Amino acid sequence: MKRETKLAHYGRMAMPGPANPPIVRASTILHDTVGSYRATKAARETDDAVLSYGRRGTTTAHQLAAAVCDLEGGDACFLFPTGVAAVAGGLTPYLSAGDHLLVVDTIFPATRSYCETVLRRQGVEVDYFPWDTTDLAGWARPNTRMVMVESPASQTFEVMDLPALCRDAHDRGLIVAADNTYGSGWLYRPLELGCDLSIVAGTKYIGGHADAMMGAVVARGAVVDALRRHTATTGQTLGPDDAYACLRGLRTLGLRLERHDANGLALAIWFKGRPEVTEVLHPGLPGHPGAEIWARDATGCNGLFSVLFRDGFDAEGFIDRLALFSVGSSWGGFESLAMPASGDAGRLFPAEGRGGPMIRFHAGLEHVDDLIDDLDASFGRA
Ligand SMILES: *Cc1c(COP(=O)(O)O)cnc(C)c1O
Repeated sequence: MKRETKLAHYGRMAMPGPANPPIVRASTILHDTVGSYRATKAARETDDAVLSYGRRGTTTAHQLAAAVCDLEGGDACFLFPTGVAAVAGGLTPYLSAGDHLLVVDTIFPATRSYCETVLRRQGVEVDYFPWDTTDLAGWARPNTRMVMVESPASQTFEVMDLPALCRDAHDRGLIVAADNTYGSGWLYRPLELGCDLSIVAGTKYIGGHADAMMGAVVARGAVVDALRRHTATTGQTLGPDDAYACLRGLRTLGLRLERHDANGLALAIWFKGRPEVTEVLHPGLPGHPGAEIWARDATGCNGLFSVLFRDGFDAEGFIDRLALFSVGSSWGGFESLAMPASGDAGRLFPAEGRGGPMIRFHAGLEHVDDLIDDLDASFGRA
């Protein structure tokens, strides 16, 4: 069955019944016999969709987890209240004091912060490697356990060669986790490319309407058991209201991403023709670092891109004059956003020539002509 058809059918209930799974709110699940209670507790250890207690998620979260698991091509999926909680939940089960973790230098800043604070305090050694690494010789050590990647890179969108990196990491016995928030289970499938874990902030495109938080860790193969135990032991789940919002968002995930992709690429190309601009960072533009890998491994782009301007350009004034682009954290909703960015800030291997002002844009679902008129007017009033 095609993925578009699956999006419309995930979580389908017995008929007659609601088209979208309802919000099931529960802490306690009642049984009429001790035998039934015991059987349920035993069953949930191997079946993640057993309704046993609110801390293990209710039916709403189970339906969403099954859908995200299928989209990502995993064996199991566990849900978390935010994307950052999912990043923590995807790393912690595999790392103990004395272990060494390798992280791509272009990682999402909050992931870096988790590694630098919590993991280091717990005695995990952390090193950062450049995004174009495919051979971990010189980086891996005898105590290296795991590699954390993100492709395309946060804010600057360099594309990693995940198949090559995963082959090398697996030859060394390492677990590879990928932050797949950019691809959101639709544009890119890290598990198919060789990763063991795919982590998605559903807050972004899966929810898709800037009104829900969610994180998912999807796992394949031998890493599943430790993740299942850790998630249960640490009491992680997703509340039913956000699970419902994300299930509803999923129905239009493919459709929305088509428009975000078309709008984002059109705006990126438009910016390239402006004299104020020195560089446009978008994985769909020819010549962008890793664009040919993205064309090979992904099925499209989302609405994100960054623009670098000439020294002295008033980026904040430009943003403030925009009417259709707002300023705000996060992305992946229907709305257009513009944020002052410094893509290489805090990185150990910054790219050349990124010193000038930079704006990270998210192209929303508006008509692209209106977005271009808005940008043009802001340049005009500079
Ligand atoms: C937003 C984001 C996260 C974190 O998601 P939250 O739901 O905001 O915690 C993680 N990784 C990437 C790449 C993100 O963009």
